[in-house]
Amino acid sequence: MDRLMAGVSGVRGVVGETMTPQVACQFASAFASMLDSGVTVTIGRDTRPSGPALRNASAAGLLASGVNVVDLGVVSTPGAALMTAKIGAAGGVVITASHNPGRYNGLKFLRSGGEALRGEQALELKRVRQRGEFAYVRWDRQGTETANDRANHEHVRAVCDRCDAEAVARRKFTVVLDSVNGAGCLETPMLLERLGCNLVHINAEPSGIFAHEPEPVESNLSELCRAVRRCGAAAGFAQDADADRLAIVDENGRFVGEEYTLALSAAFVLSGRKGAIATNLSTSRMVDDIAARAGCRVVRAPTGEANVVEAMKRENCILGGEGGGGVIEPEVVYVRDSLVGIAYVLQYLAQSGKPLSRLVDEIPRYVVKKIRMPVAAGDVPEILARSREAFAAQADARFNDSDGLRVDLTDGWVCVRPSNTEPIIRIIAEAKDEDTASGLVEKVRKIAEDATG
Ligand code: MG
Repeated sequence: MDRLMAGVSGVRGVVGETMTPQVACQFASAFASMLDSGVTVTIGRDTRPSGPALRNASAAGLLASGVNVVDLGVVSTPGAALMTAKIGAAGGVVITASHNPGRYNGLKFLRSGGEALRGEQALELKRVRQRGEFAYVRWDRQGTETANDRANHEHVRAVCDRCDAEAVARRKFTVVLDSVNGAGCLETPMLLERLGCNLVHINAEPSGIFAHEPEPVESNLSELCRAVRRCGAAAGFAQDADADRLAIVDENGRFVGEEYTLALSAAFVLSGRKGAIATNLSTSRMVDDIAARAGCRVVRAPTGEANVVEAMKRENCILGGEGGGGVIEPEVVYVRDSLVGIAYVLQYLAQSGKPLSRLVDEIPRYVVKKIRMPVAAGDVPEILARSREAFAAQADARFNDSDGLRVDLTDGWVCVRPSNTEPIIRIIAEAKDEDTASGLVEKVRKIAEDATG
């Protein structure tokens, strides 16, 4: 049996095994106990068939804790976040297992403003649930529930407010969208209609029966690539089940990869405005190249959406995001948002007059190598110290140890960090060529082996 995964991005498990109505109710109750009684919390869900049961169980925990519930229905995570901010709710719960397969479901928690929980808040939530320290209230203090079906409309409107919808609409782009039968099915066609696109929508039934694994990576998107070629589309877009992540396919049906979602969005935003971009330590150097060309800065935050958001606020960033296809537009909401990515790529196409493949090729290309290694938590400090030592003699080495260790070199970078949820370390390297990237990973892998051996 897969165990329950409880990390910074919420809790996920296999439906009927580790993720049951009871577990959902406990986590929602724990979340409510961290809030004041009488506040309001939004609740929404992606399209998974297990969603209604887990939604009801979560709502029960909130209501019994004296928290008022606003039901958003089927909604994307960014849509739920936007409404949480808009109605001034104290928090939100989204019933989703994000990019995980259909047998999974879970709960994502949002704080006021719609933002993801900070690491310490996620840990506290886990502790409260383990101890069963719920704050159920007496009979006359129970929460009440109301419905709000505006999330999709408000979200689309907020994204359209950030672009020149008419300029995009004049181009009458043909676009293929793969919503994997997830939460993106409902609002994304509304956005593309506003942008005047001729939409070919595949996996467009909000059934939660995923036509392929919902993670928007190349191996899952062959149908989308074929459809882009068949339709002669200007672009193809793939969303995960809660529509916070986005992957892009160019007009030749070539998967350009999740790392390009933030890179292309940054290139578009910086073509019109100047400002800093925030991202995490394991995101591609493409963003640095794009920012440098525009004379702007990149702020590197520890991994985790809340850390990127914190850096965005601290450094007044005009855009943020993560390499896994997540772009954050602060003027919409401080959450990764596939609709923002779609709108920005289309507007970039419209304004440049170039095909997507050309815009992609204008960005310096890198090779990424990633491995994971089982490692006891106690060995991690030694691995990090030895890795640092191994690169210390190189004059071009710059170190960032805010989350594991990232070493930036002229030819590339390597990052080694422990997982928050599993006893493993991840080693990621990026360089101009395969050999350099592999060499960097190998060097750190050997150090880790020696340190644990
Ligand atoms: Mg997701």
